[in-house]
Amino acid sequence: MKAAVFKGIEQLAVEDVPEPEAGPDDLVVSVAVCGICGSDLHTYQHGSFVQPGQIMGHEFVGSVIAAGDNVQGLQVGDRVTASPIVPCGHCARCAEGRFNLCAEAWTTGIAYGRPGAFAERLRIPNAVAGQNVFKLPDHVSDETGATAEPLAVAVHAVRLVPEIEGTTALVLGLGTIGQQVVQVLKAYGAGRVIGVDISSLRLDAAREFGAETVDGMDGVAAALGDAEVDVVFECSGVPALATAALGLVKGGGTIVVLALYDDEISFNPTALVQQEIKLQGSIAYTSDDFAEAVRLLTSGEAKVGPLITQREALASVMDAFAVQLEKDRSLKVVVRPNGVG
Ligand SMILES: [Zn+2]
Ligand SMILES: [Zn+2]
Repeated sequence: MKAAVFKGIEQLAVEDVPEPEAGPDDLVVSVAVCGICGSDLHTYQHGSFVQPGQIMGHEFVGSVIAAGDNVQGLQVGDRVTASPIVPCGHCARCAEGRFNLCAEAWTTGIAYGRPGAFAERLRIPNAVAGQNVFKLPDHVSDETGATAEPLAVAVHAVRLVPEIEGTTALVLGLGTIGQQVVQVLKAYGAGRVIGVDISSLRLDAAREFGAETVDGMDGVAAALGDAEVDVVFECSGVPALATAALGLVKGGGTIVVLALYDDEISFNPTALVQQEIKLQGSIAYTSDDFAEAVRLLTSGEAKVGPLITQREALASVMDAFAVQLEKDRSLKVVVRPNGVG
């Protein structure tokens, strides 16, 4: 079968690779759609997270074409999405159900160690319905289902904040993760959700999802007026914005950091001390967060909306990555390994 293989910085090659086979606990799916993640761009541009030879792609929907004998509740023909995390199952974090913090999760996962979904077909190991594999109802399209993974990232981040209802939240950076944070905040009853970016395409999308928007950091103070920011979600990965968050959040407020940074940031922690600001990191999701993301998409509380801005065939994967890098032209570019139609 064909797959896009990461060869090195700014190099992906579509090659023939071995067909995946379902072991007794596994599924093999025919991949309908797989989104390009911001983390894939860090790999593409900087070689971060994975080694050359890796097939990337972890935001996917596919149809089951083979199911191992031990797999229960999932069968050939089901349309599914899945968590790419493959935890070790025996460390202290796994015992707590915090698979996202398992040290092995990012070396043995789908697209992180084992083959990912920029491929015609994909093996999902240790498939457990409702834990790592989620069947999609008919009314949830393939492309909608492929946004469950970044939505789960947002669910996890928002759930780390104890009180959302009625709060004023500032979302810095309106790429896919920022958009999904906006959607989850709205679904959970946040008062004001203010999104900041400099891409008009991304600002428009956030307004469609119900956010107020501000074009650039200079306008934030005016947009806030007398309101205080209870929580900031830093989704931009821009060092200056991460430090600016310290000056924008209220005393006793929370900054949730979801972005990935290529550069170090220096700041004086006294700002945290004097205002008792809580600095909270957030990575990926638990099984429960992923299930909640699928539930939000199924109920319509979250939508695919304007998220997907371009579709490309597997053969055009390099074009897909090039467009994804242009923040004013793209939100989420998806690859359709078995046809764009
Ligand atoms: Zn991702
Ligand atoms: Zn573990």
